[in-house]
Amino acid sequence: MYFNIQRFSTHDGDGIRSILFLKGCSLACPWCQNPESRSEKYSVLFDERSCMADCSLCVSASQGIERSGETLTINRKLIRDEELIALKKVCPTEALTVCGKEAESDFLFDTLMKDKPFYDQSGGGVTFSGGEPLMQLDLVQSLAARLHKAEVPTAVESCMHVPWKNIEKVAPHIDCWLADLKHVDDEKFLRWAKGSLKRIKDNYRKLAPIAKRIVIRVLWCRALMILTKSFDRLLILQLHLKAAKNFTCCRITPSASTNIACSICPMSVRTNR
Ligand code: SF4
Repeated sequence: MYFNIQRFSTHDGDGIRSILFLKGCSLACPWCQNPESRSEKYSVLFDERSCMADCSLCVSASQGIERSGETLTINRKLIRDEELIALKKVCPTEALTVCGKEAESDFLFDTLMKDKPFYDQSGGGVTFSGGEPLMQLDLVQSLAARLHKAEVPTAVESCMHVPWKNIEKVAPHIDCWLADLKHVDDEKFLRWAKGSLKRIKDNYRKLAPIAKRIVIRVLWCRALMILTKSFDRLLILQLHLKAAKNFTCCRITPSASTNIACSICPMSVRTNR
């Protein structure tokens, strides 16, 4: 399942790119840029600022939605799968939307190939993003292989918190790894991101000798960095990985474009990456 194909992107790899955003993630970072991508299933999104006070169309469409005066309450656990189809089209102001689309690999490939002339002219290509795209191994592997055959450069944005076999299988078809390193302290990584830092470090060690290019992106959160002395430890990691071809280190920031505040450090919400 995917939730967006963003064409003419210039921030997620070289040149002009199309980004395929896939649903599902293995971490739960509080600063997530795309929280609607965490679930691998459909997600019901609601923006109360656009909801009309005298409307109850979505209430009629689902037993999981109630209105009491001006307050709309959404109980996502009570929304049935068959109601999601109606909910996709019901809201006139798009205050309520259903995030997630199912599509065949052929449809996605054809859509991604539409901008091939722009990739060729700009040195761009296709980037797999999410969520964590490597959780949908079969889809990414097959699309990346077909894109390579069509001479389209590929990149993947990954948190690296996936089984090594997932990385190993797609690695031959990926030209650039835009990989996150969200923290370098095991205990704090577990607390903030709800995942295993060891798994990620093991994956980096195995990937470094076989990847064509790795760009490690670091969460840029001043308070967090100062508190944990992460800068020093990051430099050590950089030295360990310097054998990786085209190794680069850059920064990511909690998103300003989606106005999602970082729950760790209010200072950090400022620029897009
Ligand atoms: S359909 Fe849209 S505008 Fe109407 S009550 Fe539901 S969320 Fe609000």
